[in-house]
Amino acid sequence: MELQEVKKLIQNAGVVGAGGAGFPSFAKLAEGANILVINAAECEPLLYTDYMLIHERLYRVLEGAEAIMEMTGIEKCLLGVKATKGKALHWVEGQELAPGVFVKMLPNVYPMGDEINLIYEATGRLVPPGQLPMTVGVIVMNLETVYNIRAALRHQKPVIEKWLTIHGHVEQPYVLRVPVGTRVSDLFEKMNVKVPAGHTVLDGGPSMGKVIDPEKTIVTKATKGLMILPDDIAAIYTKKRSMRVQLAIGSSACCQCTRCTDLCPRNLLGYPLEPHKHVRIENAMMDARPEDVLTASMCCACGICEIAACCQSISPRAMIGKHKGILAQNRLKYIAKPDEKFTVHPERRARQMPSDRWKRMLGVDKFDRVPEYIAEMVDFDRVEIFTSQHIGAPSIPCVSVGDTVEVGQVIAEAAQGFSVPQHASIAGKVTYVDPTKIVIEK
Ligand code: SF4
Ligand code: SF4
Repeated sequence: MELQEVKKLIQNAGVVGAGGAGFPSFAKLAEGANILVINAAECEPLLYTDYMLIHERLYRVLEGAEAIMEMTGIEKCLLGVKATKGKALHWVEGQELAPGVFVKMLPNVYPMGDEINLIYEATGRLVPPGQLPMTVGVIVMNLETVYNIRAALRHQKPVIEKWLTIHGHVEQPYVLRVPVGTRVSDLFEKMNVKVPAGHTVLDGGPSMGKVIDPEKTIVTKATKGLMILPDDIAAIYTKKRSMRVQLAIGSSACCQCTRCTDLCPRNLLGYPLEPHKHVRIENAMMDARPEDVLTASMCCACGICEIAACCQSISPRAMIGKHKGILAQNRLKYIAKPDEKFTVHPERRARQMPSDRWKRMLGVDKFDRVPEYIAEMVDFDRVEIFTSQHIGAPSIPCVSVGDTVEVGQVIAEAAQGFSVPQHASIAGKVTYVDPTKIVIEK
């Protein structure tokens, strides 16, 4: 099959990055790369989704990897896992799991799942700021995305289910799958997951997850985990401070020691991102001009500058987040010049954040244990499918209230250009449609 035909199949199945921002996967596939990197680093503490998929369904991931390699002409695939998890799987470095697919044991440091750090660690290649991995001959995909590509190509199965981890201060952590569009509060009720008083729910891991209201949050194709954590640990209280408080602390306490820059994983790779300078701009109470804060686009929002580096409780991450907003409004980002050179810091290895220490700093080490794996899909009577679960144009609803739909049926078509369709994740009746979402009830 021609690459274009395969890309169409993957697009038609609605496959997008299964973690992160939901980049449409068909757009990543092109000839010209020579290494496929499967990201199973899962560097966030308490996330076990990829680990469990490897443990229980590895052959499907490997079939997906082989299909991608065949269609793109790539001869080598590296499946990257943190060394601790690789050891638990009884893998060794360089082990060949399938023809051309090798184990890549990654150091137990945070944030190893950051795409730029992962590529450097796995291949020794450095993606220049603002460029795509393809510029250094690499395609990177999350492990579950590869699993979904296999389902799309082998069974023409669209993405209608989502694997995720429920973890934190819970009686029983789980890795399970639910229909895309499941309301988080419905999931918690069905699994008897309680959110005690004085606790917060995050969509994502403890470091980078976003605070959510389970009643108002829906599982999308990019949901990776749901964390229930007490409010008095660093993972939570740093996220709950208002920007006004963040700016007040920053302006009164920053001594410009540069420790946030010294430990920044993107800076350690040689990127010209210096978080202390973003704090300085805010402290000067200037209205930041977009061209002054361009380097904010290089930040992966790992939170090391905020939780581990700064002894004054300042959050350079929050200030950089503000500067990213300015860049987004102006459609700007830092793009490396063709002759610009980037040199990895000679002390990078020594300054990296060990995963265990990071877990303790966040305050989540006491909750860490391997979750129970539930193989059968947890079923629900109602789903809300968003038309925008991906980067690019939202899909366009093609059903009306009162229509009966089958599982897997297209309910929103891909828009012109960069987009993917959405599919019914349960069978039932359409009870609500607007340009942003479609509700289906059994
Ligand atoms: S934000 Fe904190 S770590 Fe960064 S320069 Fe200021 S005082 Fe130092
Ligand atoms: S959050 Fe802080 S440490 Fe992490 S990449 Fe951004 S600036 Fe660097």
